[in-house]
Amino acid sequence: MIKTIVSEELPVGEKFEIRKNIIKGKRGGKRLCIVTGTHGDELEGQYVCFELARRLNEHPELLRGDVEIYPALNPLGVDSITRGFPGFDLDMNRIFPGEINGHLIENTAYKIMQDIKGADMVLDIHSSNIFLREVMQVRINIQTANVLIPYARMLNTDFIWVHNAATVLQSTLAHSLNTAGTKTLVVEMGIGMRITRKYGNRLVDGIFNLMSGMGMWKGKKSEMIAEPFVSTDGEVIFMNADVSGVIIPSVSHSTAVRKGDILCQIVEPFEGKILQDVLAPVDGFVFTMRTYPIVYEGSLIARIYKSSELHP
Ligand SMILES: [Zn+2]
Repeated sequence: MIKTIVSEELPVGEKFEIRKNIIKGKRGGKRLCIVTGTHGDELEGQYVCFELARRLNEHPELLRGDVEIYPALNPLGVDSITRGFPGFDLDMNRIFPGEINGHLIENTAYKIMQDIKGADMVLDIHSSNIFLREVMQVRINIQTANVLIPYARMLNTDFIWVHNAATVLQSTLAHSLNTAGTKTLVVEMGIGMRITRKYGNRLVDGIFNLMSGMGMWKGKKSEMIAEPFVSTDGEVIFMNADVSGVIIPSVSHSTAVRKGDILCQIVEPFEGKILQDVLAPVDGFVFTMRTYPIVYEGSLIARIYKSSELHP
């Protein structure tokens, strides 16, 4: 059942609408919301919504409770491949919980919050940007870690990053919902403007596993659920470019590295000079890797989860 949660007139004839699909199972179950498309250039969630709806539609009789799918919280952004809200260049994930008497976008954020609030679990799916490729991970604020980590472990991801950046995250959908008492997990995976089918399928397996854990799914689920690394900020190393140039990668993301391994070279194409060999400063797991080949001094190149357990 498709339900419109926001419908506003645009200046000349068009309409701005946000819709969700409610897949209803047997009564007495829980309510799970899958939201994505807050950043219009992040499209991995589109496949997850499609595949989840497709599999649920095959066996609706095995569902207890409701699954609500919101493919595009920023529909104009998704339609025009724009990260923010087009025209305003406004990041939709920096205006929550919104404002009932605010302008169009603030009021939209308010209505989204009111609609989702009270769900038993929310997954907010993101896919990096066009510059960086991410392994499948859940990002959790330290304040909500005790409550959320057990659920995050069910999602079949490689990594759970528990971070402490409360000040930056206050106006996100996830932080606003968690503050309002609605459990919300942020999934980050893949790369902007692309769909990584392997990750999408893995996450959908993880969602069915989560639904089983919540008593919502009585059907089959994957036996191969990944056991993620769990890390805090203190174990994550950020690698930034010392110089501007062109990056030639030596490893891809999702790679275990040893201290001193070469991650990439920054080169200049005029005279064929190597400007910087970027070396792994620790033993660990590369969970973010730059894909876009141009860097400026200070650009993020990689993030490494520092761990020596990866090398037996
Ligand atoms: Zn995002």
